[in-house]
Amino acid sequence: MNESPPSVGHVHLVGAGPGDPDLLTLRAARLIMQAGLIVHDGLVDPAILRMAPPSARVVSVAKSRARHTMPQDAINALLVAEALAGRDVVRLKGGDPFVFGRGGEEAEACRAAGVPVEVVPGISAALGGAAAAQIPLTHRNSASIVSFVAGQCKGLTDQDWAGLAGKGRTLVIYMGVVTAEVIADKLMADGLAPDVPVAVIENATRPEMRVLRGPLAGLPLLVAEHRVKSPALIVIGDVTAEPEQELRKLARSGALEVAK
Ligand code: SAH
Repeated sequence: MNESPPSVGHVHLVGAGPGDPDLLTLRAARLIMQAGLIVHDGLVDPAILRMAPPSARVVSVAKSRARHTMPQDAINALLVAEALAGRDVVRLKGGDPFVFGRGGEEAEACRAAGVPVEVVPGISAALGGAAAAQIPLTHRNSASIVSFVAGQCKGLTDQDWAGLAGKGRTLVIYMGVVTAEVIADKLMADGLAPDVPVAVIENATRPEMRVLRGPLAGLPLLVAEHRVKSPALIVIGDVTAEPEQELRKLARSGALEVAK
């Protein structure tokens, strides 16, 4: 008979932010509240998924470092197949889809299949975490460069991070908890001083958030002693020093007169 083929659906690659649902963009919130199908990562907070209508189909493609429930190719294929069947897909990702989120690959797969794709930015963990921990990533007095790196990927020790951390610079490391020791050794081998201040932000913007601080040389112990778990960020640079600590340092160096 004369059945017309279904029109192609859209894939919306949507950043869900670092956790707190209040940090969604209005566009992300609208798409979630009107969704028929949501495909999400493990990092998307359950409170955000609860915003979907009860009728929505919610599919988890959660990944963890050691366990891949769904390989990336299968995720790409799922998005494309659903859209070609005429369904709009809200693809929810922690943080921002284009920051360590493999959003680029999913957008490419959609475009290659003729599926229209939209990207909705989200607050990346570095920005949400820095705000929640009140660590300015740049500061007129102490940092004018900020870099984001992945601390867990193939050939970590071979990666060239030279110049990314040190005076006047802030380095934010995603996925670095398990490799904290390698990271600290690598940075010190690159010439970074062992007493450069470091902060670890675990579960940023969530009720269970923790912020731990210490010197770079103590980073592996800090992570081990406090049993830091993913998701967590490591921030390296002077901006992570607590103001009181900075004042004490200035006082010790004689640059600051301390009132008696
Ligand atoms: N696209 C995401 C990053 C995905 S990679 C973004 O833009 O934020 C996953 C890593 O992000 C985690 O290993 C962790 O380092 C970081 N991360 C994500 N959410 C976080 C949170 N709430 N608190 C701390 N780190 C987080």
